[in-house]
Amino acid sequence: MRSLITRPRVAAALLAGTALIFTSLSGQASARLPAESPDCFVPPASASAKGGHGPDTRDVSAAEQKAIEARTAQILKAKAARGIGVPKGALAAASVPVYVHVMRDAAGNGDVTDTQIAQQIAVLNTTFGGQESSAAANTGFTFTLAGTFRYNNNNWHKDKQSSTYRKQTRKGGANALNMWLVDFAYLGIATFPWDYDRNPGVDGIRVHYDSLPGGGIANYNLGETATHEAGHWFGLYHTFQGGCTATNDEVADTPAQSSSTNGCPEGRDSCSLPGLDPIHNYMDYSYDSCYNQFTPDQSTRISNMWTAYRA
Ligand SMILES: [Zn+2]
Repeated sequence: MRSLITRPRVAAALLAGTALIFTSLSGQASARLPAESPDCFVPPASASAKGGHGPDTRDVSAAEQKAIEARTAQILKAKAARGIGVPKGALAAASVPVYVHVMRDAAGNGDVTDTQIAQQIAVLNTTFGGQESSAAANTGFTFTLAGTFRYNNNNWHKDKQSSTYRKQTRKGGANALNMWLVDFAYLGIATFPWDYDRNPGVDGIRVHYDSLPGGGIANYNLGETATHEAGHWFGLYHTFQGGCTATNDEVADTPAQSSSTNGCPEGRDSCSLPGLDPIHNYMDYSYDSCYNQFTPDQSTRISNMWTAYRA
C-alpha cells in the first residue's frame, strides 16, 4: 500500500490491477506470487507495494499533509520551549529496538531464518547509516534486534485481521520498531509517527516475508523494502509525494518527481522543476539494487519527527 499517498486514482487503478493478477495466481501452490511472473506482477508490485499510508490504509491528502506539517511544527516548538529535544543545529539519534513477528501459516509457510532476520537488521543499519553511497546521509539511527516471535495463523499470515493481530502482538513503546512479516500483495505497509498517539497498538511496519535478504521476490529481496517502510515509520513521504510541486515530499533536497520509479532508469527526469528524479532514494519505488541513500534533509526530517512523536 505504498502507492496511495499522492495519487488516489492512479493508486486505485494499480491496486485493482494487483488484485486481478493476484487472483489469477491464487490457484498456484506457491506462496511467492511476484517472483515467477515479473512481466505482469512486478510493475503493479513496485507501484503499489511499498505502503506508507496515512492512517495505515488510506492516502494522506494535500490538506492532511499541510495539517500534519503544522501540527508537527507546533509540537516541536512546544517541546523546544520546555527544553525537550536536541539543541538547534543538532540531530536526534537513537538505538531503535526492533521486534520481528514472523506470521507463518498453520503449515509453517512464511517462515524466515534467524540469519535472514540478522541480515535484515544489518541492512537497516547499513542504509540508515548512509553506507551505500558517498552522497548518502548517516541518519544517526541504529537498530538492534529486541526479539523474534513466531506465530502459526493462516489469517495473520495473509495479513487478515491486521488491526487485531498487531494489537495482540506489538511490543515496546513509541520508539520500538515492530516488523510483521506476512504474505500479501504488497511489499510493505507502514504507519506514520503522527498516528502513534491515536492508535499505538498498530504502530509499525508490515513487510512481505520474501523481501528479506535472500527472499524470493526478484529485484526486491535485498531487505530494502524494510528500509523504505521504516522511512515512513520515521515520517518520510515518498519522493514522488505531491508530484511535480515545490512542496512535494516536504524535503528540499529530493527533487520533485511526477510518479514512482520502476527499475533503475538512470537519468529519469519526470518534472520540469530542477533536478533529476531521486531514483536512488530509499523512498522511491526503485529496485533494491538501485537504492542507495537517504538525503541530509530527509535525515533532518527523521530527526524532527522522532523528537515530535517518538522520543
Ligand atoms: Zn512507501
